[in-house]
Amino acid sequence: MKLSVDVETIKGFLDPVEGRALYEHCLSVGSLGPTLEVGSYCGKSTLYLGEACRRTGNSLFAVDHHRGSEEHQPGEEYHDPDLFDENAGLMDTFREFRRTLRQAKLEEIVVPIVASSSLAARHWHTSLAMVFIDGGHSHEAAITDYRSWAGHLVPGGVLAIHDIFTDPTEAGQAPFEIFTLAVASGLFRKLEIVKTLGLLQRL
Ligand code: SAH
Ligand code: MG
Repeated sequence: MKLSVDVETIKGFLDPVEGRALYEHCLSVGSLGPTLEVGSYCGKSTLYLGEACRRTGNSLFAVDHHRGSEEHQPGEEYHDPDLFDENAGLMDTFREFRRTLRQAKLEEIVVPIVASSSLAARHWHTSLAMVFIDGGHSHEAAITDYRSWAGHLVPGGVLAIHDIFTDPTEAGQAPFEIFTLAVASGLFRKLEIVKTLGLLQRL
């Protein structure tokens, strides 16, 4: 795997080992169609998925309203004041995200969709080879993401879910809940869990 920028220079929340797993799985389903991610932030995961899509001649749809999740808001644990738009009084990661795309020469691969996951999904009809869910971590947000996107996966496609923690004392359980829901649906089989990244295959 060759990334076109130093991934360490991009702000974000993805372990390099998880990033590599995203890249490999995205590459492996490259013949099945495009990929979509929910939750791009400044483009760390986008870089790994985008490089795989470049190699397979696919597009990557990158959905994020760029206003941050609950934990990114002022006063919260993962707030970054550099990403706060003082004029709007809101978080704005889109500027940084675009910078990442330009630096990585991914502007002809990645289609940014600056909207909430539910709005982006409302009229969506394109089949997907891979879906990466890394958006809001409230129970409601995670369920909405799962319901909105998992159904668009083609057979053999990959569903990746970030921030899987089986121990409730470590972190929120919503990503793990949708992972469990997907398995219980009988529509997916477990592929592997890489650190906190859960990977499933659509049967
Ligand atoms: N994948 C990123 C980290 C994502 S952080 C990385 O590799 O670093 C979570 C992102 O989800 C935030 O940028 C936030 O704006 C976005 N988000 C949260 N809830 C959302 C929703 N309902 N719709 C769209 N994006 C959302
Ligand atoms: Mg995450």
